[in-house]
Amino acid sequence: MNERYVELHCHSCFSLLDGAATPEALLEQALALDMPALALTDHNGLYAAIRFYLAAKERGLAPLVGAELTLQGDESFPADSHLLLLAENKRGYRNLCWLISRAQLQGSKGRPRLSLQQMAGRTAGLIALTGCRRGRVAASLLAGDPRRALACLQALKALFGPQGVYVELQQHLHAGEAALVEQLAALARATRLPMVATNNAHYARREGSRLQDVLVAIRHNLPLPDCRPYLYSNSEYYLKSPSEMASLFAAYPEALANTLEVAARCQIKDLHFRDEIVCPPSVATDCSADDALAQLCRTRLPPTQAAEQQLRHELQVIRQTGLASYFLLVWDIVRFARERGIQVRGRGSAANSFVAYLLGITGVDPLRHNLLFERFLSAEARVMPDIDLDFCSRRREEVIQYVYERYGESHVGMVCNYITYCARSAIRDVGKALGLPPEAIGWLANNQEVWGGEDWDPQPLGLALSTWAQFRALCAAIQGFPRHLGIHVGGMCITRSPLDEVVPLERATMPGRVVIQWDKDNAEDAGLIKLDLLSLRTLSAIDECLGAIKETHGQVVDLDRLPLDDPLVYQQLEKADTIGAFQVESRAQQQALVKVRPRNLADLAVEVALIRPGPLQGGMVHPYIRRRQGLEPVHYDHPLLEPVLKETLGVVVFQEQCIRIAMVMGGFSAGEADMLRRAMSRHRSGEEMARFRARFVEGALARGVPVAVAEEVFGKLAGFSSYGFCKSHAVAFAKTAYDTLWLRAHYPAEYYCAVLNNEPMGFYAPRVIIGDARRHGVRVMPVRVNRSLAPCTVEGGAIRLGFRYIDGLGEAGAQRLVEARPQGGYRDLVDVCRRTRLARRLLENLILAGGMDEWGGRRALIWELGRLHYEEDLPWTSVPDDIALEPMTYGEELAAEYSVTGVSAQGHLLELYRERLSRVGVRGSGELKDAMAGERVRVAGMVAVRQRPPTAKGFAFVTLEDEAGLINLILTPDVADRYRRVLDEPLLLAEGRVERGDGAVNVQVEKLAHLG
Ligand SMILES: [Zn+2]
Ligand SMILES: [Zn+2]
Repeated sequence: MNERYVELHCHSCFSLLDGAATPEALLEQALALDMPALALTDHNGLYAAIRFYLAAKERGLAPLVGAELTLQGDESFPADSHLLLLAENKRGYRNLCWLISRAQLQGSKGRPRLSLQQMAGRTAGLIALTGCRRGRVAASLLAGDPRRALACLQALKALFGPQGVYVELQQHLHAGEAALVEQLAALARATRLPMVATNNAHYARREGSRLQDVLVAIRHNLPLPDCRPYLYSNSEYYLKSPSEMASLFAAYPEALANTLEVAARCQIKDLHFRDEIVCPPSVATDCSADDALAQLCRTRLPPTQAAEQQLRHELQVIRQTGLASYFLLVWDIVRFARERGIQVRGRGSAANSFVAYLLGITGVDPLRHNLLFERFLSAEARVMPDIDLDFCSRRREEVIQYVYERYGESHVGMVCNYITYCARSAIRDVGKALGLPPEAIGWLANNQEVWGGEDWDPQPLGLALSTWAQFRALCAAIQGFPRHLGIHVGGMCITRSPLDEVVPLERATMPGRVVIQWDKDNAEDAGLIKLDLLSLRTLSAIDECLGAIKETHGQVVDLDRLPLDDPLVYQQLEKADTIGAFQVESRAQQQALVKVRPRNLADLAVEVALIRPGPLQGGMVHPYIRRRQGLEPVHYDHPLLEPVLKETLGVVVFQEQCIRIAMVMGGFSAGEADMLRRAMSRHRSGEEMARFRARFVEGALARGVPVAVAEEVFGKLAGFSSYGFCKSHAVAFAKTAYDTLWLRAHYPAEYYCAVLNNEPMGFYAPRVIIGDARRHGVRVMPVRVNRSLAPCTVEGGAIRLGFRYIDGLGEAGAQRLVEARPQGGYRDLVDVCRRTRLARRLLENLILAGGMDEWGGRRALIWELGRLHYEEDLPWTSVPDDIALEPMTYGEELAAEYSVTGVSAQGHLLELYRERLSRVGVRGSGELKDAMAGERVRVAGMVAVRQRPPTAKGFAFVTLEDEAGLINLILTPDVADRYRRVLDEPLLLAEGRVERGDGAVNVQVEKLAHLG
């Protein structure tokens, strides 16, 4: 009864479609089976190594880190084969990373292969197990070639040494297997190598085999019945108990005992890489990173006591955590960007740090905004802080290149993303594997809400009840499993050692790109330096706008020095006049702005944090707005919360408030509170949350808080935290929003022009931006073949549309028009044709957009183009005629401009309908402001935005735009359904009742028609 056994060969779902359990599920089962340790050996990867390592330690199990490598064939063994490696120590771990990286990078994507020769010199600290039936030794025996088996075994012994190789025995009750085990054991004795039993586990319990089969079917993209040859023929590949293994290997007790010996040998003390922090080369030479950091900060330190105190405190924490180099590294990148004139903003929790502010990493003074440093970094937390940098989207690549050059290609890598199964992809893949009819799969994927209930009958779909039950169970089980790897948008890791000795690298889907095998959470848990270098189109627009201001007005605007109380900014906000501004332009934002009426940057930060899908769904927005308007009293669940929630009127808005509440009410230390926040934001297990809850309630009780109140407050924190913004992040975003509003108010032509050049960005299409510019007194002029450049430009205080807006022209065509243009300009249509040789269709578009209006009517020019018999790649002849054509009407011109540029410079399309519309009592958006609540009105406009969010229970929201502004429509689910087709039309006429509330005006639609 006291058999002892450790599973050394075990696959999780991170073997990517060849393992049917999460690492945690395997650990739980190992625990239940009383194993003191467990190995994780996924195929060619250490994706789950960190996660597995930490989860095992948490459960008191010894984690063994390893992988099953795929070897490529050679003279000694022609086919691909498997080899199992386990790391004895960190050196072995590093070698394993290196070997997997080689296999991954030299194989084709998804087919990693390593040659045996490449392992030479990289086997220290590694133990090899000879592997499954696909291992060279077993496969040779199965092929009836014991001499080759011996040779293969000796090759391994030469590589790993006599202490480093175990002959692996597996027993899955297949025919002929007992004989194989006998032969392997004999070979082990003959070569004096130890043997070890494993079960090559692919799932935790026997039931898992069904899911395993489905995964294999998905991997081969075949329905189950067609992939028999790839499936295990029975369900023996689960984590077996020591006694089950003992009876299977009764004849080889040492094979069982040796599993414990291997487990005892493979004890990696830690998998933490904080010592991999690098310092930028320029700083590292003469003094310590801590001193260098202190010096840099002091050059910008304001001479106040508060500043001195905060700096001392932060430097001390940074010293304790050993992170000075990290700050210097980020500082170095920001410095590079600034020197090159690349817009950069630091955000994320970094903005909580005064040091980051002094280094110029962030633009928001945390002292002024009462930000909490502990949210960013605390001495207790073992996790790395995060600093996100947003760059001008066009120039981010320069910064990434700089990082590669500065630290070396082999020390820098992009973080990956695990693409995991969601409900829809699970339905599709499982459905296909089970052989469901494609129509049924399509329908099921699109109508999840319909068949969610238990008693739903699948038989009309042609599905048997038993298939249906199985399908549902498998879909549920597969959710969250990784399917393949993606690339993270901007996460980079930088290490002191070559990166491929810290974490395996592999090819990204994008050709030429390489990613590490960890996502951002794993990288963070491993203590790696992680930088998020993100691109933000708004920063490109700001950058361009500042350049245009300098060029046209000779003024240099320093956004870091803008006063933060410009009344023009707040006037725009309270009127919801925000189209084109960062973060505050959406319909939901606009509707809240007129109620909240931000008066300062702090208010704006709340607005930015609050008006987002999460908080809106969480029901926190309404109380805040009502309290802000004085419609309900400010209320605190407990007096302890007052100092924390005062600034947000008793509502939890920021992550920092979660942390503070955990501290003041639950008695958490700063570090503990931050752990809680992390656990919450990563959606950790119910079990883990239950521990935090108990801890919180206990702490609250000690502070005299009734249990019921403590429970309620904790519930609010948990509900909030998964989507909460940290305050520093919100303040940083608010500052960028402020900057855009300031530019929009003071330099509208330059600002709108920059927005047009950086589309798509934000919420509205270019035509809405142009309409808005016009309403703010900015003239917009059409494309002109002799004036325009590729982008839009500011010309005499007006915006001149650029060639890029011409449909089909593309960047190349736009450049050709500019480059072929002679000094004095093109002379006529023939000249344009001759010099550019652009395709005829493109020239027509250029004419229709008004690009050649200086040479005659658009219709006449189109006619002339036809008469020329112009072909872009042939010589052509011109045949004159005397046909006179009617010029296009204004309406025709507008319609043509819309069709070829998507915008209209001259005017708004609605102008053409206005007379007709007034006759039937349609009001303009300007008049709507004076309409009474409940009044029946008719309105019309071009559709600016259409939304039917899944969270809105079938409601649809449409924003129309006319010459004078925006009109907000609300459609109840039945109205939205009734007019489903009409809703897709570009021009709409609506009738309904006016709803008014605190400045926001909506039309509740009853009838809808296409305006045409
Ligand atoms: Zn294998
Ligand atoms: Zn295996």
